[in-house]
Amino acid sequence: MRSFYDIDQQDVIVGIGGDWDTFALQNDSPSAQAAEVTGYPLWDSVEGFETMSYLNALFFAVRRKGIPLNLRYRCDSPKMARLFNMTISPLRENGLRVEHVQIAPGPHMQHQTAVDFSLHYSPKKCSVCCAFLIGDEWVDPFTLPTTVDFPKGVGLCEHCKKEALNAIAQHDTDLHGKVIPFR
Ligand SMILES: [Zn+2]
Repeated sequence: MRSFYDIDQQDVIVGIGGDWDTFALQNDSPSAQAAEVTGYPLWDSVEGFETMSYLNALFFAVRRKGIPLNLRYRCDSPKMARLFNMTISPLRENGLRVEHVQIAPGPHMQHQTAVDFSLHYSPKKCSVCCAFLIGDEWVDPFTLPTTVDFPKGVGLCEHCKKEALNAIAQHDTDLHGKVIPFR
């Protein structure tokens, strides 16, 4: 799975490529298909203020420095943990290309499935690593055999906030941009 979108300096989606539509349909998101989102602000398609702030900080770093930045993130399906690499690269006139490449095989993809939770419910899911907030704990549903219900909203866990700040700090001092390790 490899796809990308391009945004202009106003963060309007101006181009989409790769396996974008296939992925959107596989994930029951027909409204995310290229024809539906091209020409519209990216922020119309991003859920949750924390996720917007997170992406915005990364975009700002790349625009300011003019070199690409790489981050890993999770985009799980209900039954499979999927690890992706996101590369944000500068384009002309302050535009950006954001490319997503699935890294296969990712961690514990074959043998574990997220459990269907009936006794607990999680108020939030981290939009970067897919951890669920249960009580005060951010829990990866693919690493613990406990349950998480569907999240009621998205936010950002402390780990991913820290990773983003580290990535931006590193990006700021490193002319090549590096892939930072995922937990
Ligand atoms: Zn996270």
